[in-house]
Amino acid sequence: MSQPTCRFCSAPLRRTFVDLGTSPLANAYRDPAAAAEPEVFYPLHTYLCDGCFLVQLPAVQSPEEIFRHYAYFSSYADTWLAHAEAYAAAMVERFHLGSDSRVVEVASNDGYLLRFFKERGIPVLGIEPAQNVARAAEAIGIPTITEFFGRSLAQELAAGGRRADLLVANNVLAHTPHLNDFVAGLALALAPGGVLTLEFPHLLELIEHNQFDTIYHEHFSYFSFTTAHRVLAAHHLEVFDVERLPTHGGSLRVYARHRDAGGESVSRRVTALLAEEEAAGYLTLDPYRGFAERVRATKRALLRFLIEAKDAGKRIAGYGAPAKGNTLLNYCGIRTDFLDFTVDRSPHKQGRLLPGSQVPIRPPDAIREARPDYVLILPWNLRQEIVEQMADVRDWGGRFVVAIPELEEIP
Ligand SMILES: [Zn+2]
Repeated sequence: MSQPTCRFCSAPLRRTFVDLGTSPLANAYRDPAAAAEPEVFYPLHTYLCDGCFLVQLPAVQSPEEIFRHYAYFSSYADTWLAHAEAYAAAMVERFHLGSDSRVVEVASNDGYLLRFFKERGIPVLGIEPAQNVARAAEAIGIPTITEFFGRSLAQELAAGGRRADLLVANNVLAHTPHLNDFVAGLALALAPGGVLTLEFPHLLELIEHNQFDTIYHEHFSYFSFTTAHRVLAAHHLEVFDVERLPTHGGSLRVYARHRDAGGESVSRRVTALLAEEEAAGYLTLDPYRGFAERVRATKRALLRFLIEAKDAGKRIAGYGAPAKGNTLLNYCGIRTDFLDFTVDRSPHKQGRLLPGSQVPIRPPDAIREARPDYVLILPWNLRQEIVEQMADVRDWGGRFVVAIPELEEIP
């Protein structure tokens, strides 16, 4: 492969952020009947651009290959649905959306979010390239275009008079390999007085809370607020507000509009967060150094725990089959030698194998039948919800464990 270059500023990428070895695509859940088939592993090597400080993973596969059959259905996570509903209510009120407005969501998944606007009588349009999830959205009455978003599709929307008064790009900015084409598309698809909101995991949280497992092939870019602000500005979009959210271990919700649009004044939160990142050194190399060694220490701690538990004859099951769990298990080399199985509420994952590690995925009741000594929670961002749902694990003396931010038995 030729020398990778930064997907925003085109500078050559020379500096490793963290190298997690090789892994299959994190959402490539496997059919057990095909378990003997070869499986393709790709490098999971992230770089820091020393020109613009964008942390990034060079694309190893086309978005077509990665996202056409995306197995993640947003509607299976209760916390996530509550987040979506609260977002819809807040946007309708703040920006006075009504039956004459249009809400367009990029990466609209199974309609988990747009349905809350539709319920309020607001016209909606989803854009979702994964055909299986887009069909689920259509089934609940959410019109959905099954294409990848970028400049070309945005031009079609604009030409057809379908620009957005509220353009939602939640948890998709990080997933786009063609960053400049994508953001140019956002600018084109936004009505003159429209509002764009973006949500993405905050790089500061990733670094400070050791969330290295959120690095996987579907996530191409990892943004500080400063870098995101800079990317939007390059496409004539002005950030006028920002909020910190607890989702995905700590995300930002950024509000932007056309640079000349006017409207409410730029929030003090914008300048405060830019200043905070600068004070924390995020415009220097300092905070990025040392991350890779912390990741390796986390691997050693988890393996030490698993080895000791197995030596003591303990049985260990996983909870959850999130993409991030696959990064963790494949980076650490954990298979059914340590984890007997994992469970997931999504029927689309049950009965399949985790990519790489080949750990079988069962329904949550499998834990109640097997009564393992330890339950390793893979989606650590949902740990509270899972401990409550599975409270009966403690009835037989079972313990919950998480590996991130550091190895912990949950008291
Ligand atoms: Zn760059």
